[in-house]
Amino acid sequence: MVLILLIFVIGSLGLVYFFQTTFLDDFYKTNKIKSIENVGRDVASLVGEDDIDETIEHVAMSNEVCVRVVSNNEKYNYTGACTLRGLDNMTINMIANEVMNTEDNEKLFDDFHYQRRHDEQPEDVYIFAKLFEVNRENVMVLVSSGITPLNATISTIKSQYLIIAAVVVAMTVVLALILSRFIIKPIKQINNESKNLSKGAYEGTNVSPSCEEFVQLNSTLMNANEDILKAEKAKKELLGNVSHDLRTPLTMIVGYGEMIRDLPEENNEENINVIIDEAKRLSTLVDDLIDISKMDSVAIELNREVISLNELLKSVYHQYELFCRNQNIDLKLQLSDDIDVELDEKRIKQILYNFVNNALNYNNKQDKKIVIGCEKKDDVYRVFVYDNGEGIDDSDIDNIWDRYYKVDKEHRRHRIGSGIGLSLARQLLMAHGLNYGVESKKDEYSKFYFDVKAI
Ligand code: ADP
Repeated sequence: MVLILLIFVIGSLGLVYFFQTTFLDDFYKTNKIKSIENVGRDVASLVGEDDIDETIEHVAMSNEVCVRVVSNNEKYNYTGACTLRGLDNMTINMIANEVMNTEDNEKLFDDFHYQRRHDEQPEDVYIFAKLFEVNRENVMVLVSSGITPLNATISTIKSQYLIIAAVVVAMTVVLALILSRFIIKPIKQINNESKNLSKGAYEGTNVSPSCEEFVQLNSTLMNANEDILKAEKAKKELLGNVSHDLRTPLTMIVGYGEMIRDLPEENNEENINVIIDEAKRLSTLVDDLIDISKMDSVAIELNREVISLNELLKSVYHQYELFCRNQNIDLKLQLSDDIDVELDEKRIKQILYNFVNNALNYNNKQDKKIVIGCEKKDDVYRVFVYDNGEGIDDSDIDNIWDRYYKVDKEHRRHRIGSGIGLSLARQLLMAHGLNYGVESKKDEYSKFYFDVKAI
């Protein structure tokens, strides 16, 4: 990087040097000739008007050229800024003759040499001449200017340039050293250290606090490291939980199966239902795991369709109605306006089932209450599942949507959850682009919700 900077600076300086010294002379001459010609044409357009002496003088002075207008008629003779010394009548006639033979009666002469004083070098003089008629009188405008050779200027520029180049290169080297000390070195350090990130062993580097971006980068990497450690830990926990959850129903299924085989009198509905329930529990757990691994590998594809929100909520309600009645749980359905929404029905039901299952699971109260409902909030409809259960502690509320997160870290059998449900729900809600959240008070209530818009 330091080398690139140096090459860039030296290259740019070299380019400017080359252009300045090689083309400066030509550039100056072309510009000067253009201005001589323009003055000639401007003055020609003025001749014939009244009181133009001052204007001609002014134009000649400001362009640093000599202007002379000659004619047989004294009336049209003017001189501005200087005289064309050295041009006798014979030369002027010669110029007039030559100009007459050109197509547009104007010509630039670049082969005159003019010596101001005897001891001076003759100077190259450019003369622009334009011949035209004013009131049937032949008039000729002559504009001349010496073109000073720029050799001296160029050599001054060259020596100045060498000094400037030396200073700029020295400054670049200093800048490069500063850059390398304050930017490249910390980048290298962070880069080396970040190789440990995948192992969750990023310990951070000692970056100078004056460089805010590096401090931020360092702390972002530290956070990422912490997340990796957390995920690792959670995965281990999940593996423990899942194996426990798998083993318990399997033991029950095998135990009850063997019992029914060995003791035919135990072959009754109650025992068979135990096997079926445990098998269902296994199936739910496996479904959750499959879902989550699917969502990790592919983008969630939604099958959106227009459905009635009330019908959807009623259907979820009916799913739990009988169960809650048997269990003495006060389950209510609270409907709002009859609106249509565009959602993936299967996925939204999956989310609501998860909310209701949690409402049932995390509630130890005698008078369990659950509300499946919808209420209007400004321009959206808030779909929610409320329960008067154990609520969620403020310190946990931000984490419950994280995968594998369980408030109750101790694995208890009746807590059937694997800590995946809300994470799945969150992914599905995000795929729908819906606002979602939870309101809760410890030991009082929880209300999980998402907002939909009517179509
Ligand atoms: P799980 O499968 O363990 O239920 P979830 O992802 O569904 O996992 O929920 C994560 C955690 O959030 C739960 O372990 C529980 O501690 C907490 N939680 C979820 N719903 C409720 C609720 N209605 N009331 C209290 N706590 C809840």
